[in-house]
Amino acid sequence: MAKIISGSAMADRLMATLARDVASFSRRNGCVPTLAAVLVGNDPASEIYVRRKISQCRKVGIGSIEHRYGADCTEAELRSLIGRLNSDSEVHGILVQMPLPPQIDSARILDAIDPVKDVDGFHPVNVGRLSTGTGGLIPCTPMGCLMLLQSELPGLKGKQAVVIGKSNIVGKPVALLLLEQECTVTVCHKYTQNLADICRHADIVVAAAGSPNLVRGHWIKPGAVIIDVGINRVQSEDGKQKIVGDVAASEIDHASAFTPVPGGVGPMTIACLLLNTFKAADGLVSHDPRLRVDA
Ligand code: NAD
Repeated sequence: MAKIISGSAMADRLMATLARDVASFSRRNGCVPTLAAVLVGNDPASEIYVRRKISQCRKVGIGSIEHRYGADCTEAELRSLIGRLNSDSEVHGILVQMPLPPQIDSARILDAIDPVKDVDGFHPVNVGRLSTGTGGLIPCTPMGCLMLLQSELPGLKGKQAVVIGKSNIVGKPVALLLLEQECTVTVCHKYTQNLADICRHADIVVAAAGSPNLVRGHWIKPGAVIIDVGINRVQSEDGKQKIVGDVAASEIDHASAFTPVPGGVGPMTIACLLLNTFKAADGLVSHDPRLRVDA
């Protein structure tokens, strides 16, 4: 029977440590690490995500400020807000919830965020730092994936890893983090041929395709570790909606361990966002050179 790697339990432990670190930081520096969350439009999923992030901030003593704009918000308005948040010394992390309405260029908005406050790790400076292994703020979901993997496989060096998905927010940064750990990494995507054969050689499979039950049991090498990032809403037999990952969880008994959906990568993503907010605050207050663009 494959072991379940509980992201919920690991996130709880991370948050408990973070709560202590935040309290001691706040005592030492007389300021509270603070996240500014920007929400544009009325996307119900985005509303839920932002609410969840803010409620988790409270749990660890991180301050939060929510900035809401209607769906007709212009790019100039949003850039002006980001400019103000960049220069506000009481704001340490800035999160712009995606997706943005079509009249706003998301890439230009991400570029406008000061990289030292870019707690999502999407700014080109942080992307560059990740690809050169020189610090910076690491995207939250990939960081969570790495922590979950390391809890199961302390030595990743030399492991064969397959990453399914090549998005900028999950697949590519996961691949870079695994390369940094000296894994041999194969990145697959929807045009990859023989995905099943490629997976069969993997010690580690990270599935981030957004396709329910894509990864089947016979693709998995006995003893492999599987990180399932996918979040897919499907209808269950009783007609109700349920969330499943990208991996056919009932077929992977021969794996050594896997992350469940829900309760795996999801909770770690939010915990890592809080960790990044704390790191950003700590870096700004102590002028950590690894976070500076001009270091
Ligand atoms: P995306 O749509 O941007 O990218 C999906 C990638 O998967 C693409 O590179 C595509 O080529 C590849 N792909 C799609 N179908 C494939 C197939 N049949 N075979 C091989 N490759 C295929 O998605 P994303 O933003 O990277 O997210 C991926 C999944 O992870 C989604 O289900 C998303 O909801 C989930 N997600 C979860 C968290 C979390 O916190 N747990 C965070 C971010 C994303």
